[in-house]
Amino acid sequence: MSEAGNIGVHYAVDYERHDTGPGHPESVQRYQVLRAALEALPPAIVRLPAGRRATVAEILLAHEHRYHDLVYRDTESLADFLRTGDTAICEHSYDVALEACGAFLAAIDAVMAGVVAAAFCAVRPPGHHATASRGMGFCIFNHVAVGARYLQARHGLQRIAIIDWDVHHGNGTEEIFIADPDVLYVSLHEEHIYPYTGAASTRGRGPGLGANLNIPLPRHSTGALALAAWDAQVAPALAAFKPEFVLISAGFDARIDDPIGGLCWDDATFSAMTRHCVRLARQCGHGRVVSVLEGGYNPQGLASAAVAHVLALGQP
Ligand SMILES: [Zn+2]
Repeated sequence: MSEAGNIGVHYAVDYERHDTGPGHPESVQRYQVLRAALEALPPAIVRLPAGRRATVAEILLAHEHRYHDLVYRDTESLADFLRTGDTAICEHSYDVALEACGAFLAAIDAVMAGVVAAAFCAVRPPGHHATASRGMGFCIFNHVAVGARYLQARHGLQRIAIIDWDVHHGNGTEEIFIADPDVLYVSLHEEHIYPYTGAASTRGRGPGLGANLNIPLPRHSTGALALAAWDAQVAPALAAFKPEFVLISAGFDARIDDPIGGLCWDDATFSAMTRHCVRLARQCGHGRVVSVLEGGYNPQGLASAAVAHVLALGQP
């Protein structure tokens, strides 16, 4: 384990095999612009190679068996959408989703092994809207949820924090961990938009009560409001929880000029939140942070914010 070691970044042409069709915001073109920006990062940023496909057993850490099989069958039958919801698919989508999830798990392994101190995984399709039984919102498998369960099952950790700053509420992640006291889910998101969940009053259920923190933010608000909410609510919750690993659902659709999101964050907002996460992880004695791409639909804005995020991982 290294506390101030190298930063890893993962991206791969393979993710461009997931074809969502013409005019779709979660497009191959969006990823190509991001990939070009990541390729131009300073050489000190370590490129993590394509890892491996997630196994079915790993997918089942967070998903029901019948949902896994549904994704396989819908892909094999050349359906245009998952039958569970608004997720466009093509013949390669099942494979690409397994590769994306496997790469995320490989990045977690790399951090646990001390190969890198922290890492960002630029994969697609995204994951945080996928519930245990249902793909929706462009998502197939919930990478961050599988990753949290993998850290517990494979690496023997207990307390995992998931920070989700995508402009949309991560309903899938929340649902999977709603009754779990060992996974703290924190979401900062725009209120009153898709998927219309994420009320501040949803704080967990049963033994998980208190381990779910939703921070809905008003349309057109800037990063200053989000960072104030971080200081007032997120920082104390994280400090009290003392996570053994910090996972980030890193969407960049809260950035100003995103065609879907209505918030007005700038790159400095993403940098500041990233630094908060790294500092918190270091204060917990380990420094372990791995982020995974969710949304972000203005290609240039996505690329700019993601680069700011990666650089901030190494400059807390
Ligand atoms: Zn989003």
